[in-house]
Amino acid sequence: MKLHEYQAKQIFARYGIPIPKGRVASSAVEARQIAEELGVRVVVKSQVLVGGRGKAGGIRLAKNAREAEEVATQILGMEIKGLPVRKVLIDPAANIEQEIYLGITNDRAARRPVFMSSAAGGVEIEEIARTNPEKIIKVHIDPLLGLRDYQARDIAIGIDLSKESWKQFGEICRGLWHAYVDCDATLVEINPLVILKEKSLMALDGKMLLDDNALFRHSDLAELRDIDEEATAETEARKYGLSYIKLDGNIGCMVNGAGLAMTTMDIVKLSGGKPANFLDIGGGASADKVAAAMRIILSDKNVKVILFNVFGGITRCDEVARGILIALEEVKPTIPMIVRLVGTNAEEGRKILSEAKMITADTLSDAARKAVAAVVDKLQEA
Ligand code: GDP
Ligand code: MN
Repeated sequence: MKLHEYQAKQIFARYGIPIPKGRVASSAVEARQIAEELGVRVVVKSQVLVGGRGKAGGIRLAKNAREAEEVATQILGMEIKGLPVRKVLIDPAANIEQEIYLGITNDRAARRPVFMSSAAGGVEIEEIARTNPEKIIKVHIDPLLGLRDYQARDIAIGIDLSKESWKQFGEICRGLWHAYVDCDATLVEINPLVILKEKSLMALDGKMLLDDNALFRHSDLAELRDIDEEATAETEARKYGLSYIKLDGNIGCMVNGAGLAMTTMDIVKLSGGKPANFLDIGGGASADKVAAAMRIILSDKNVKVILFNVFGGITRCDEVARGILIALEEVKPTIPMIVRLVGTNAEEGRKILSEAKMITADTLSDAARKAVAAVVDKLQEA
């Protein structure tokens, strides 16, 4: 789950990280009021869940409250990378001397969190990571020991930070580390962490990704989810307890079990096809869950065929088959459907489905081959 900049910065502030004292507005009038209250030059910042807002024109300075209203009107009318801007953050403008990058994420290969930092922070950081990776320094953290003081110093030295800023930089590193651990984040990032003209440090931007699997123990954070900004398919999937991830292929996959879903995608690819999604309907999936899964798959206009791969262990094949029939009634899909059903009550399941016009397959590779062939036919028709 992604947090908005303003949400991430509020969390950072609780950990002692200095942030600008701005507020969020949903309308241009509100933006003007906030700018009036602040009484200084402001920066109007689009709140959308994508990076690169600055380059897209979604971050703009305004000299006074009237200008803030004007700029906010424009930004609130924008779409950034396909996402409509619904909120803007109005922060007092900062006098920036230098922009630093500071972030923490998990380094899976090293099996531990890693701090990353660069003296060349700001909107070009991705470019720098590509062309001058040596300008980004990395310090791995032992998860049991946590961030040690000498490590924060190592980072400060690594980015050539002047000694007068070390103490504050150390506090920010510690704050960011604790925010990362306490919130079960998979990424925390301050870009830019700026050195102001008067030499103090401040987090001008904030990004936070939270581990969805840990949200059950953070009800306060779970509430921060902005469903307006999410793909509706994913929101819908979560409601039914389905794990769905949209991909860009055209073979819709409905599978029970995450491992089996991954295998199905692999076999589809090996057979020359492209999966349209990852979807795990879970164990013991009921008829209405299957129906929801089918609606979600079909909401993707790229889908040309659906491949059902069901192994009936806890999930009973007849139950899944009934779910498919209910969904067919409801959605009336016109595309070919290939089914492979094995396991508990497979016979009954197949009997139920024999009424519906579905292509059956005995093995997964057989099913994948038939799905790919059906896509080829569909594309030739078109
Ligand atoms: P991003 O492009 O989505 O990462 O948005 P940021 O919040 O990082 O803003 C992009 C850039 O806008 C920053 O790197 C700064 O150069 C600039 N910027 C943001 N806030 C201010 C501000 O208060 N004053 C000035 N002068 N520039 C700012
Ligand atoms: Mn940024």
